[in-house]
Amino acid sequence: MARIGVYVCHCGTNIAGTVDVAAVREFAAALPGVVVARDYQYMCSDPGQDLIRKDITDLGLDRVVVASCSPRMHEPTFRRALESAHLNGYLLEMANIREHCSWVTTDMPAATRKAKALVAGAVRRVALHEPLEERYADVTPQALVVGGGIAGIEAALKIADGGFRVHLVEKEPSIGGQMAKLDKTFPTLDCSACILTPKMVAVAQHPNIVLHTYSEVEKVDGFVGNFRVTIRHKARSVDMQKCTGCGTCWSKCPYTAPNEFDEGLGKRKLIYIPFPQAVPNKPVIDRERCVRFQSGKCGACQKLCPTGAIDFGQQDELVEETFGAIIVATGYTLFDPSRGPWGYGRYPNVLTALQFERMINASGPTGGHVQLQDGSTPRAVAILHCIGSRDQNYHEYCSNVCCMYSLKLAHLAKEKTGANVYNFYIDIRAFGKAYEEFYNRVQNEGVYFIRGKGAEVASKDGRLVVQCEDTLLGKYREIPVDMVILSPAMEPRPGAARVSQVFGIQRSPDGFFLEAHAKLEPLKTATDGVFIAGACQGPKDIPYAVAQGAGAAAEVLRLLSAGRVTISPVVAQVAEEICSGCRACLPVCPYNAISYHEGFKVVQVNEALCKGCGTCVAACPSGALSVSHFRTPQVLAQIEEVLSV
Ligand SMILES: Cc1cc2nc3c(=O)[nH]c(=O)nc-3n(C[C@H](O)[C@H](O)[C@H](O)COP(=O)(O)OP(=O)(O)OC[C@H]3O[C@@H](n4cnc5c(N)ncnc54)[C@H](O)[C@@H]3O)c2cc1C
Ligand code: SF4
Ligand code: SF4
Repeated sequence: MARIGVYVCHCGTNIAGTVDVAAVREFAAALPGVVVARDYQYMCSDPGQDLIRKDITDLGLDRVVVASCSPRMHEPTFRRALESAHLNGYLLEMANIREHCSWVTTDMPAATRKAKALVAGAVRRVALHEPLEERYADVTPQALVVGGGIAGIEAALKIADGGFRVHLVEKEPSIGGQMAKLDKTFPTLDCSACILTPKMVAVAQHPNIVLHTYSEVEKVDGFVGNFRVTIRHKARSVDMQKCTGCGTCWSKCPYTAPNEFDEGLGKRKLIYIPFPQAVPNKPVIDRERCVRFQSGKCGACQKLCPTGAIDFGQQDELVEETFGAIIVATGYTLFDPSRGPWGYGRYPNVLTALQFERMINASGPTGGHVQLQDGSTPRAVAILHCIGSRDQNYHEYCSNVCCMYSLKLAHLAKEKTGANVYNFYIDIRAFGKAYEEFYNRVQNEGVYFIRGKGAEVASKDGRLVVQCEDTLLGKYREIPVDMVILSPAMEPRPGAARVSQVFGIQRSPDGFFLEAHAKLEPLKTATDGVFIAGACQGPKDIPYAVAQGAGAAAEVLRLLSAGRVTISPVVAQVAEEICSGCRACLPVCPYNAISYHEGFKVVQVNEALCKGCGTCVAACPSGALSVSHFRTPQVLAQIEEVLSV
């Protein structure tokens, strides 16, 4: 017969305020197999854990039940306590009498009754526990970072500086992300390129960084410590070894297309570098539009390239590498305002905030001049906050940074043009360090603030008119202006669904990548060894994206320096003699941990990928699957006992 110790925690008054812990202790002491039952103020404290250790040694306990909080909080604590007294950590069961009892009712008798039932179930179950052993796998000492915006750049530099090799994969021809498009940055008004480009150059020059631009991750196999990754290098049509970046090709290409980097405001050549400080500073041919690719004519760049670097026959290349850990930092895109009543796409002087960033930038399409379609300078500019955010019709969430970049753009528009600048806002969210001060500064500069969302933009007598309900004055207003700048919500990139599939990352209802725990694990994902950083997780500004990049790098460095990972023994197992090979379990596994063995005609579980969630067990019609530590007899015994109290 098992020798069980039961420990009932007060958790201060968190439990003891609502559950009669002494009554639970007395009840537990009378259960079959229970040798000792105690209650204590804080079981997780050192003296609390010492009680358990001492009883294991002195009374020869071989099973322990702790009735306290959620096992998500303290199961590892109590497992370690058992192990330090030479008892297998899996011979522990926790009864959650806080979240499941004291925190869900103020009715003491009811809470106490339920606590007794949970303790009885735990005691019956723990008697059936088996000792389980954790295993270890070696970690490949190099990391992958996906996305070369500021978050990914920061992460790659920190890992590389930590002494580990890191591969940075960026889908565009250059790293830099959205920050590369910005003119100045709030609240300090640093020139964005001046603070970003040194980091971009550091990436290019770092001996520990392998840069894959114009590339995407095609496939990820394996598990934490050993991810096998296939990277597609898209054909640039330019031999990177031969190209010196002299610029002859792009200056001589006779054809142009809308410039994506300038958000469609300017033109670029069909062989181009995205922006002057691009890293790498080598061009790429836009094959979709290039006349040579479309009709076989032209070929001017090839004829004129002094180093013979143009290679029209270049093919995509697949590269395979193994990584110990992965950071996904694929960033955001902007909500498309042509979906709403703000005149975007209809009136040429209605711009998005990113378009305006390009317009005011010295290397942008107008050389930094703020101008209307006809080349004149606007006398009045409206900036509309919350376009597509805080809006039941589009995104409910607050996009976090738009208030601040709208204030920045108001300051810059006023500085550059002397125009009257109107900010239409719901309320100003200036939450960060020195942000409120910046708001005050912009107010003192004479920018007008109208509290009311710009509901619609119309055209009247040759000018634009912003319609809004001014909630301070309590009346409907129409403000005539020459230029409207829309501040659209940051939203997940269109490729986010595919990225989430490839890397096994879940998404929250708003489509951004989901962290393992909103407060305590903001950088981890449901897949061990895969971390997220930056605006792919939700709207955020540069300081926050940089902090997350550095934080994710710390997570990766922790894994790589440990050199090995622990593999939980709580995994699914297949009774191969029972498995009919029907494969019903394959599509239900959220972690792609199950595969079908063609030779043996049965399924197999990859224990490093399996999280022991049990979904497959429920799906198997033959009863061939079970999860260790959650075997059917263990679970049924617990349920039976809970129901019998
Ligand atoms: C108009 C505007 C003004 C702003 N002004 C400021 C400001 O003044 N101050 C401030 O603090 N913040 C500002 N921001 C916010 C700032 O842009 C973000 O905080 C920052 O860009 C987030 O960086 P990131 O690396 O997370 O994402 P991104 O900049 O979006 O970078 C993500 C990178 O990942 C790449 N990528 C995407 N998918 C893949 C894939 N599948 N494979 C490989 N690579 C991929 C992208 O090409 C990109 O290079 C502003 C935002 C806007 C819209
Ligand atoms: S071949 Fe294509 S990229 Fe080269 S110059 Fe002609 S159009 Fe431009
Ligand atoms: S227990 Fe969950 S994670 Fe493990 S194989 Fe089954 S479904 Fe997949």
